[in-house]
Amino acid sequence: MSAPVASEPEVVLIGAGVLGLFTAHALAQRMDPSRILVLDRGYLSAGASGRNGGGVRQQWEDPITVRWAKEGVRVYRRFARDFGFNPWFRQGGYCFLAFSEEERARLRRMEGVVRGEGLPIRWLEADALQERVPRLDPPGLLGGTELSSDGVIYPFPVLWGLRASLLRLGVRIRTRTEVVGIDRDAKGVQGVRTREGRIPVRRVVNVAGGASRSVSALAGLRVPNVPSRHEILATEAVKPLFDPMVVTLRRGSYFSQSMRGEIIGGLAPERAEPAGEGLPSSSRFLHDASAELTELFPSLARLRVLRSWAGLYDETPDGFPILGEDPRLPGFFQGNGFGGHGFMLAPAGAPRLAALVLGESTDLDPGKFGPGRFSSPGASPREGLVLG
Ligand SMILES: Cc1cc2nc3c(=O)[nH]c(=O)nc-3n(C[C@H](O)[C@H](O)[C@H](O)COP(=O)(O)OP(=O)(O)OC[C@H]3O[C@@H](n4cnc5c(N)ncnc54)[C@H](O)[C@@H]3O)c2cc1C
Repeated sequence: MSAPVASEPEVVLIGAGVLGLFTAHALAQRMDPSRILVLDRGYLSAGASGRNGGGVRQQWEDPITVRWAKEGVRVYRRFARDFGFNPWFRQGGYCFLAFSEEERARLRRMEGVVRGEGLPIRWLEADALQERVPRLDPPGLLGGTELSSDGVIYPFPVLWGLRASLLRLGVRIRTRTEVVGIDRDAKGVQGVRTREGRIPVRRVVNVAGGASRSVSALAGLRVPNVPSRHEILATEAVKPLFDPMVVTLRRGSYFSQSMRGEIIGGLAPERAEPAGEGLPSSSRFLHDASAELTELFPSLARLRVLRSWAGLYDETPDGFPILGEDPRLPGFFQGNGFGGHGFMLAPAGAPRLAALVLGESTDLDPGKFGPGRFSSPGASPREGLVLG
């Protein structure tokens, strides 16, 4: 039985998160939009794209990541005009805090990389930092970096704007449609199977976020991606207290204040999480994140947490995403592995992925981003500022 699809798609994208939607949008500029089909097993914001902290920062240790994040900032600054939905991109800055000489040295190196990419990052000693971030008062603070064009975005309108634009262009998006099988023949990908039936297609893009490993497995492929559960919380809303997102290296913690006044943030899980795609919330996280917030901002000790939730980071061994056609299966494209930073990097990653799907050349170094890079020894250096 074939699923009822108006005309056979040329490209099927598995996943309607920020990566899938931006990629579909880039494809729709260069091919017949009605031949693009986006499938999602859940609803539009069911994945990490509806569960994240909205941080958009250009402070990275690798110049390429800085450049991609700069592209993200450019796209999000004009998103409301281009897509008709305002994602309330608020450029209140980001501050990375140092608590040891080692952390100071590392951040100062990163500062050099970011400045080298033309961004006016500053180093602030502890006093100046505390002026920039009122109420920040943790013991042992040495100083930190500050970049005022970094910011925070509200993720949902980004998804709504992309969806509306795609539907206007004629791209088909089917939610509540799980891909349960990927068929292959001697030439490569031959089709995808959903519970409603089979869809013949020769190009499939795995933009399934934390489920990218299991979607690869449907095609018979093992990949190094690991889904990793990360929790995040929101407090009750209070008056505006501070502008920048505050980040620590030692705990991988991050906190920002939303325009509604809630403090939103989380920290890196301390122990290895059980493998899998489960999303339970834990009282341990509530305790650890509250303790961390209180240590950074002692005067917020009585603030009440309103809710917490979890999402998946799709992690790769070197901290860089995986983009491109899988050398083991013609027609099967990987567009995943964005860890805890896919929202800010999607505007740069998606057009490059779309170009690869269309067989065009890109500026992507396959040794850094290609799906084949893990099979050869001597992989490129890790992006170190993968936090949260
Ligand atoms: C707690 C947390 C905080 C974060 N904070 C930030 C941040 O501050 N800044 C930032 O840039 N990034 C952040 N991230 C990371 C960011 O959210 C992700 O990198 C990004 O959203 C990934 O987008 P995606 O489109 O690749 O995946 P997703 O948004 O996860 O979308 C994948 C989609 O695939 C669908 N799917 C899966 N399997 C199937 C199947 N078999 N068939 C059909 N559909 C399927 C899912 O339903 C899902 O909707 C955070 C993530 C978490 C969890």
